[in-house]
Amino acid sequence: MSLTPQQISDFRDALLENKKLLMATIASEDESSKIVELDQSKVGRLSRMDALQGQAMSQETKSRHQEGLRKIAAALSRIESGDYGYCLECDELISTARLEVDPAVALCINCASLAEKD
Ligand SMILES: [Zn+2]
Repeated sequence: MSLTPQQISDFRDALLENKKLLMATIASEDESSKIVELDQSKVGRLSRMDALQGQAMSQETKSRHQEGLRKIAAALSRIESGDYGYCLECDELISTARLEVDPAVALCINCASLAEKD
């Protein structure tokens, strides 16, 4: 059973909300990484290494968040084109329960578990 226009509209709202939250998170991460850069001029070598390590971790978090934004943008464009709710790999319907957990999800449970094994 395909998604109703009401369900699609609800998922669209959820995606837009997630997008807003992620953008705010990324913006605040940018702020805190600026603070790390400022501190580095004042601290010794060891704590500078700590700071760099922290920076590498925050880079990783940031790229994960940016990846999340890309997934949301892709899901929103699938809504526009009428492909939303269908698996990118096999074209089967993605279960509503799965979409409720993550409305940006692009693969059905079968394809997602296959992708994880690779
Ligand atoms: Zn699939």
